Amino acid sequence: MPRKIIAIDADDTLFDENTAVRLFMNEKYGLDHTPDDYDIVAPYEGYWENIWQLDPDEMDARYEAFIVSSHKANLQPFPHAIKVLRYLRKDYDLVVVTSRDQRTVEVTHRSLAQHYPDIFQDVHFVPLWGNGEKVTKAMICNEIGASYLIDDGYDHCRLAAEAGVTALLFGDYGRNRTQKLLPGMIRAVDWTEVREYF
Ligand SMILES: [Mg+2]
Repeated sequence: MPRKIIAIDADDTLFDENTAVRLFMNEKYGLDHTPDDYDIVAPYEGYWENIWQLDPDEMDARYEAFIVSSHKANLQPFPHAIKVLRYLRKDYDLVVVTSRDQRTVEVTHRSLAQHYPDIFQDVHFVPLWGNGEKVTKAMICNEIGASYLIDDGYDHCRLAAEAGVTALLFGDYGRNRTQKLLPGMIRAVDWTEVREYF
């Protein structure tokens, strides 16, 4: 029997981007935001706007600055993730499915090699933000035959679950904490809970 595939998101699932964004913004723009400031209960749409309270142009500029910064290149892995993934890879094929764009392809491969060596069979960059045909993570999961998606994004998980992919909604973030789970969706607040599920 072929091994089942688990698709796994990068940012805020494998790597703690939330903390890196906060520290970058604090250092570069003289802010003093705390983890609580980044834990607003709000949907992903408008989430960063809520925290930063900036006009859209300035917000985009700051986010762009983060994307090409050393903070983005040096995201840290979450506790226990590597241990759990080493365990899972005995029985499953593991792939990364990320909506990071063209600019961070190289950095992504480097971070994965550094923090998650020999864990993943493949890395799929989902062209979510481009002007071309809209592709979702759920579509990629179906295309590659993934049985599971682990992702902190509520909408990614919802679409995956609707497409028949069991979705583990990862982490405990203000933007994913309160939404109602559909059939086929499970919460896993950290990697220990991922391990318990499997
Ligand atoms: Mg994510």
